[in-house]
Amino acid sequence: MKNDILNTSIEFLKGVGPNRAKLIKSELKILTFRDLLFQFPFKYIDKTSYHKISEIRSLKTEVQIIGSISDLKEIGIGNKKRIVAKFFDSTGTIELIWFKSSKWLIDSIKLNTKYIAFGKINIFKGKYSIAHPELELYDDLKLQQRTKLNAVYPSTELLNKRGINNKVICSLIEELLISVNNKIEENLPEYIIKKFKLLKRRESLIIIHKPRSITELKKAIYRLKFEEIFYLQIRLIKRNISRKEKIKGYTFNVIGDKFEDFFKNHLTFKLTSAQKSVLKEIRKDLGSGAQMNRLLQGDVGSGKTIVAFMSALIAIGNGFQACIMTPTEILSYQHYNKFNEICKLLNINMKVLTGSSKTKYKKELKLSLIEGDIDLLIGTHAIIYDGIVFKNLGIAIIDEQHKFGVAQRSKLWHKNNLPPHILIMTATPIPRTLAMSVYGDLDMSIINELPPGRKHINTIHQTNKDRLKLIDFVKLQISKGRQIYVVYPLIKESEKLDFKDLIDGYESFSRDFPMPDYQISIVHGKMKNEDKDYEMKRFIENKTQILVSTTVIEVGVDIPNATVMIIESAERFGLSQLHQLRGRVGRGSHNSYCFLITGDKRTKESKIRMKTMVSTNDGFIIAEKDLELRGPGNIIGTQQSGEMPLRITNLVADSQLIHKIRLLVMKILEKDPDLINVNNKIINNYLKLIINKKNIWEYIS
Ligand code: ADP
Ligand code: MG
Repeated sequence: MKNDILNTSIEFLKGVGPNRAKLIKSELKILTFRDLLFQFPFKYIDKTSYHKISEIRSLKTEVQIIGSISDLKEIGIGNKKRIVAKFFDSTGTIELIWFKSSKWLIDSIKLNTKYIAFGKINIFKGKYSIAHPELELYDDLKLQQRTKLNAVYPSTELLNKRGINNKVICSLIEELLISVNNKIEENLPEYIIKKFKLLKRRESLIIIHKPRSITELKKAIYRLKFEEIFYLQIRLIKRNISRKEKIKGYTFNVIGDKFEDFFKNHLTFKLTSAQKSVLKEIRKDLGSGAQMNRLLQGDVGSGKTIVAFMSALIAIGNGFQACIMTPTEILSYQHYNKFNEICKLLNINMKVLTGSSKTKYKKELKLSLIEGDIDLLIGTHAIIYDGIVFKNLGIAIIDEQHKFGVAQRSKLWHKNNLPPHILIMTATPIPRTLAMSVYGDLDMSIINELPPGRKHINTIHQTNKDRLKLIDFVKLQISKGRQIYVVYPLIKESEKLDFKDLIDGYESFSRDFPMPDYQISIVHGKMKNEDKDYEMKRFIENKTQILVSTTVIEVGVDIPNATVMIIESAERFGLSQLHQLRGRVGRGSHNSYCFLITGDKRTKESKIRMKTMVSTNDGFIIAEKDLELRGPGNIIGTQQSGEMPLRITNLVADSQLIHKIRLLVMKILEKDPDLINVNNKIINNYLKLIINKKNIWEYIS
């Protein structure tokens, strides 16, 4: 494959040349023949149907009109120079506009000759026009050869301006297909092609650019999705297998006295069966001799913390240290306070470390960590800063994972000879397909039930008009002894304004809920940590009834007596954030409520978000919707989005296919882990090809 024609620079394709190549590279990131081949159309249009000019009033899409040009002229000066033509048919007239002057264009257009014009309709001051239309001389014979499915490729304004419109891209693709036609090699084994009734690779790549029918196109798309998913899964699963083989971990032989003591004598509730089975999975990993790398997913309030704590107990009972990392200080202290008493009873030395820990305290802490005096360390990412060294860290538990980047995560590994076992707990459920694609190299546990007695959280969407009623409702709840959260968005870019909203809100709540009958806490990021803790503590101890805050309480905060969550400017939050915030209530046995307050004007997307929140409490359903609305990159964060190179697969729509292929790949690798079977050789070869490349994803499709 050394002289692979597909690696040829795009410059050398007939019709491109150095100038166009530069433009195509910068605008579309297309560098080689291969890149262009895998530049799939994003839609197809029907070029066998035509519009009359009188019909276009109701259309805003692309249209195709047969007509003639009268009156072609250049107007404006300098940058504003443009060519305007009147284009008419028997029913009316529109304008064709080119925002650049070109003598060539003016000379080549014939007046009063039949053309087919194609492009998007714009309306400006009641006038209809098409900017940079594709123009083609009307030709009866050619017309008959037109098909219903003409490829439309991604493009940019600049490309269009420079004359590289869709028609040009199509002709480049045409050239390309002629040059590479016989050079496209199959990359799936015959037995898979047969079993899944797939088209050949070469055929599919031609069809996706030049389909003759919908049926054919569907088959081609299916085949191309299939190989995209297949090679992604094979890489992920292979990585998982080799990690298990190569990365040895500490073996925890026993469940240990700490765990047993806690389980028998101190656990105040019955574990749910989901919690039990997850603990069993973890126990098995910890005894296996390989390093555990497990992702624990569970909806808000499903009880992940206790699973984390008990996993730590196994490590400690085996003579190792454990740490639990949280994304916020509030959460670190919440865990610390929750475990404090029980740790004393179990004779476990637990300490907490955050960014605001005092220097002297930190110094002592470092020493006793190295000495091995501390069994359990709870803290924020301060834990992974250099200079913190454990004597023998056996397990690192990362709570509410999405706040920690992968790079930070891997730092934890290098504390001692063998890497610690890693348990990652997600704040928000990740859609299954996304998890399989992005975290496919982690083992996965799911807590799919809530502790018994949990009540459905009633979610109500309101605008500011309903505020009086809301205040009455809140007063009623407080009179019953319950507590209330009020959350304001605080987003970096517009911090000042948001901050004002928060303070205004606090003041208005203070007026509606005056002292001494009511006490209100306020917590936000600009406060000193001591003040934050103080206010939080007053709320936890039920000394204040209302907590006005920013999203610092978004994850993890657990105060079962709080039953009302009021989210201000709810339209500004994403779905998973809303779900997280709502998850702060409904943690006890009382009825709970979440009020989403928005303005009257909302975008379509925010309407869908509110509707979704009102209609379901299920984090997994919400995660699916979030994925659909925002796309995978935004959900996982930019670091990982590089791992989501899917060109043609849609993680939501294709989830069943992904699942099916994942099972297939597992079966293949189970039987033939090194892919040496003669039937699988083709997979092996293709893998080698793509793995050797720096940016492998370019080659996967
Ligand atoms: P999350 O999964 O969101 O981190 P937590 O671990 O904070 O949830 O648990 C939420 C609440 O449920 C806590 O108050 C916890 O003590 C309680 N809890 C956890 N497991 C159970 C259980 N099996 N039965 C009853 N309550 C439980
Ligand atoms: Mg939690």
